[in-house]
Amino acid sequence: MTPKTARLVADFQPLAGAAPVRRITGILVVIVMALADATLVAQVPNRGEKLRIIAFGAHPDDCELQASGTGTLWAAQGHHVKFVSVTNGDIGHWREAGGPLALRRKQEVESANGLLGITVEILDIHDGELLPTLEMRQRLIRLIRQWNADLVIGPRPNDYHPDHRYTGILVQDAAYMVTVPFICPDTPPLKKNPVFMYYTDRFQKPTPSQPDIAISIDSVVEKKLDALALMESQFLEGGANGHAGLIPKSPAERAERVREVREQHAVRFRALADRFRAELKDWYGPAQGMKVRHAEAFEICEYGHQPDRSELRRLFPFFGD
Ligand SMILES: [Zn+2]
Repeated sequence: MTPKTARLVADFQPLAGAAPVRRITGILVVIVMALADATLVAQVPNRGEKLRIIAFGAHPDDCELQASGTGTLWAAQGHHVKFVSVTNGDIGHWREAGGPLALRRKQEVESANGLLGITVEILDIHDGELLPTLEMRQRLIRLIRQWNADLVIGPRPNDYHPDHRYTGILVQDAAYMVTVPFICPDTPPLKKNPVFMYYTDRFQKPTPSQPDIAISIDSVVEKKLDALALMESQFLEGGANGHAGLIPKSPAERAERVREVREQHAVRFRALADRFRAELKDWYGPAQGMKVRHAEAFEICEYGHQPDRSELRRLFPFFGD
């Protein structure tokens, strides 16, 4: 019940002793308001309506690694998907750095996501220097509001990389606040708190990832592998921890290196399917769930709207009903 309806209900309390006709009219008004309320707080769009999903990653490759299979599935159904890199990735290479690397990585994520039908934005924050400041919190609040998001995805705040940790903190800090009108009043607040979810990770402390849903990306895995292979600075050349030996010296070496990188990524997405087999079987049924080869998985953050199973099915409309 919204405060407005609560006030109405309170206003009609004195009607308890009123004449029956007035009392019934009053009760009807309250019922109508409560129904209007229910529509307002229908947190997840109904089936058939287009979803709006925004995912945050610390660097221009994090969203792509974690969610671009599911992102492609959404985009193919006409839903609106945006990947935001909170830093510009300008130290993410063993040989290059600064503006030229930031520009190179911007072009890489634009080509990769162009292939998948996903919108991209990169914030001009130096790689390795992200802090969970009030200014950054406000930037994320505005981005989520501007996208009118139904679903927001980000990393958990337990991770080896400080930029990943602080991206997780910032996304959590934006949850709920996106609905509060007088923070960032220049950007209209959302009427509903979106669902917030985390990517999975391999960190065990304080708790391991416990995804609430696992998605088969088998039908789009080739596309995802193609997209990741376009991010040459990170995957062909090894990013911050690469070395000169990785750079292909001939077209044949290049083709071999692309094959190698694609296989490394495929192994990673197959490992996720094995690790979250129980969740796949739960969502796809035992027989189909066993057959899934490549997966992505997502965990509900407790600070956004808490979707029930039917709402999750509407947010992830990939189960054929
Ligand atoms: Zn990263």
